[in-house]
This record gives sequence, structure tokens and C-alpha cells, in this order.
Amino acid sequence: MAKVRRLTPQHPEMFRARVVRSERVSPSMQRVTVTGPRLGGFPWLGYDHWFRLFLQLPHQRELRLPEFTGAQWWQPYLAIPQDERPHCANYSVADYRRRTAELDIDFVVHRGPTGEIEGRAAIWACAARPGDALALLDQGILFDRPHDASEVIVAADETGLPATASILRSLPEDTVGRLIQEIPTDGDRRELDAPAGMTVSWVVRRDSASVPGAAALRELRRLARAEATGYAFVVGESTLATEGRRHLHRLGLPKERITFSGFWKHEAAVAAA
Ligand SMILES: Cc1cc2nc3c(=O)[nH]c(=O)nc-3n(C[C@H](O)[C@H](O)[C@H](O)COP(=O)(O)OP(=O)(O)OC[C@H]3O[C@@H](n4cnc5c(N)ncnc54)[C@H](O)[C@@H]3O)c2cc1C
Repeated sequence: MAKVRRLTPQHPEMFRARVVRSERVSPSMQRVTVTGPRLGGFPWLGYDHWFRLFLQLPHQRELRLPEFTGAQWWQPYLAIPQDERPHCANYSVADYRRRTAELDIDFVVHRGPTGEIEGRAAIWACAARPGDALALLDQGILFDRPHDASEVIVAADETGLPATASILRSLPEDTVGRLIQEIPTDGDRRELDAPAGMTVSWVVRRDSASVPGAAALRELRRLARAEATGYAFVVGESTLATEGRRHLHRLGLPKERITFSGFWKHEAAVAAA
């Protein structure tokens, strides 16, 4: 994860919620809409607002959550016996409707070598039924564009699409820059509500065997210049995040004007580490 930003809440709030519906919105994206008694008060900031998602285990009748005060939730979480500890993963707010207290979460549906859905959160999302219990621990936003940024460069693989779509919706109308967005298939392209000055490049991964993020990184490396007064946000598979940052820094963008975050690590990269 990238360094902690000032828009991270000091006392993150936990929101209990239940599934309203789960639907496939594109070939690789399952959207789960949730609501909860206090979710109308979620302190949504737009941009890449993200949260820790806690999921009930299949054998449980009730979702057990860590009890904590302040920001120290990790130790209390680990103190829950393993067979009762909820699964925890990081997700972005794809959309939020305060009036109906509804929040959308877009889960990338990724598959193993024999085509089966992989990843505990994606498996949960695809099987989610109305009423299923979950909880969200608010984590704020990482996007940290300086007010004087002359351009904004955003690059992501599909795990970053919920965040990048929301960032484009949140940016001031007069923002200029570019989004490089990798997606697994043509069908995962979606309408984006973006400032007129933001160019959007969809990079479709033609080779299903290639590592997600590699195609976006190739496209990013074709950039021959970046304004030193700009700002960049690079997220997705960890190689895209770290190498993307390296390239932008080489082009002259100061490190403090680049937010980068490895949203996940490809298994081969894990094995080689
Ligand atoms: C701030 C932040 C925001 C995020 N927002 C989103 C979001 O909105 N939507 C989203 O889909 N993801 C998002 N992610 C990424 C998500 O947290 C990871 O993909 C995570 O691994 C999913 O949790 P899991 O429990 O299913 O994974 P696990 O069960 O731990 O993963 C199992 C295996 O799947 C592999 N894997 C994980 N993700 C992928 C993938 N996308 N493609 C291929 N293989 C994969 C892992 O390498 C691992 O080997 C975000 C991450 C961060 C840090």
C-alpha cells in the first residue's frame, strides 16, 4: 500500500451492511449493492474512496467484527479466533447514493487456469444473495492532487476501474490530463463521466495469459513527457504501480506528486519475492 495520506480518517468508522442485489455489469465485473442502518451517514468523499470489507464466513450464522477504538483495528481483528475471523479485503466505493443509503462495490471476477472464479471476495460477490451480512471500515482516499497541478495522469488495471471512474467524476471540470485504463475484454469498457480535458485510453488485454497491469504499463511507458507541475495516480497490480511511478519520476514528475498503490500482487510475483 502507498503511504498513509492526510485524507485517511484518524478514527475510521465501521458500517454494518446487507446485500441488496448482486449483478454482472460487464464480463469481468460483479456489482454488489449494499445498504445498512447507518450507511446514509457514510462520509463519502468521492474520488477513490476505499474501505476494508469484512465478510461473514460460509459456516457462520452471524458476522463477527473486531471491537476497537481509534485506528487500531488490526490487532483486535487478529485476536478473533481464526475460524470466526471474517475475511477482510480492500475495495473502492464504485458509487454511493446517500438518499437511499446504497453503496455499490465492483468486484473484478478473475479466474484460475481451469476457468473457475478465484479470490475469496470475488467468489463471495458472485454468490451474494439479498440479506447477506458484511461490514465496511472507512479508509478515506489516497488521491491527493495538489491544487496547482497543471495536469493529471491516471493509470490503472481493472481493479482500479471503480476508483478511476469515480476520480474522473470527482475532478474539477477544468482538469486536463489522461487516463490509461486497462481492462480484460472490450465488453468491460464503460461510459465515463469525465472533464472534457481528460483523454481516456482504454487498453484491452488481448492476451488472456498476460499479467494484468502489464499492458497499462506499456502504454504509460510510451509517454515521453510529464509536466513537473502535474500529478499522477497509478494503481493496480504491484508492478504497474511501482514501475509506473518509476517511469513518471524519470520523466521529471517529483515523487511527492505521484500517488501509487499496489492493489494486489500477481502470484508469480509473490513466488519470486
Ligand atoms: C485501496 C484498494 C482499493 C481496491 N479496490 C478494488 C475494487 O474496487 N475492486 C476490485 O476488484 N479490487 C479492488 N482492490 C484489489 C483487491 O483488494 C484485491 O484484488 C484482493 O486481492 C481481492 O481480495 P480477495 O480476498 O478476493 O483476494 P485473495 O483471496 O487474497 O486472492 C487470491 C488470489 O487471487 C489473486 N488476485 C487477486 N486479485 C486479482 C485480480 N484482480 N486479478 C487476478 N488475480 C488476482 C491474488 O494474487 C491471490 O493469489 C483494491 C485494493 C486496494 C488496496
